[in-house]
Amino acid sequence: MAWLKQLGALFGAHAFLALTFALAWVAPDVALAAKPGDAPLVMVLEGITLLACVLVGGFVEVAYTFLPLILLGVVLFLLAVGRAGLSWGVVGFVWSVVAAFVEGLRAHRGELGFARENIAHPHRRYDRIFLLYFGTLPLVPLLWLVTPARVVIWATVYYALAAASDSFLRAPIDRIPRAILRRMQSKTDPALAAKLGLCRTCLYVQPAVGHPDGKPVRCALSTKDARFVEFPDVPLSTCDGYKPR
Ligand code: SF4
Repeated sequence: MAWLKQLGALFGAHAFLALTFALAWVAPDVALAAKPGDAPLVMVLEGITLLACVLVGGFVEVAYTFLPLILLGVVLFLLAVGRAGLSWGVVGFVWSVVAAFVEGLRAHRGELGFARENIAHPHRRYDRIFLLYFGTLPLVPLLWLVTPARVVIWATVYYALAAASDSFLRAPIDRIPRAILRRMQSKTDPALAAKLGLCRTCLYVQPAVGHPDGKPVRCALSTKDARFVEFPDVPLSTCDGYKPR
């Protein structure tokens, strides 16, 4: 059944978006095609939401940041250009946002295991997508002199790569953000390392986003084992749940 899951991922929202933008580029008269004007809007909203997710806290709260921003963006878009701007490209985008929202909630409840153990976990998917978005961004100025369809081509390439990174190219593309993260973690400030204690090197640690008392650590093991509190008082020197990365 693994091949069926991969097929589902391949023909999911990102593959659909790649197809609609490819049609806007090569066959704009086809009924399913996105309109060329949809591409800048969709790509800018995608970038804003990716940045928001990272700035708010390393994708932990994707579910809380993604949906309101996108819905606001889509409503503003419809107000600005009217229903004529609504195409399958925008529909596909809303589909991908709702899917991300549902997956973010499932991850927050612990249904998808831990990001470091599960390559399909949304936090790892967003590492890959973030990298693909900014990795393919230089295409826009490069295409500027060649064709007016630059953003549509960028959207096609980006969503096709995003679909591939969620299916048959998942493992190879995942190595890039993993290597970057490992490098960043190896350079942790000693004062911060002392503040986080044992949790810093534990498999189950996550950043505690927006905790009212400013606690820095969320323990993901707490979602599966009631012996562990969600926001431990760090630094801990011993812990029965500790598992090194
Ligand atoms: S299991 Fe223990 S060491 Fe690991 S994150 Fe939770 S509280 Fe920290």
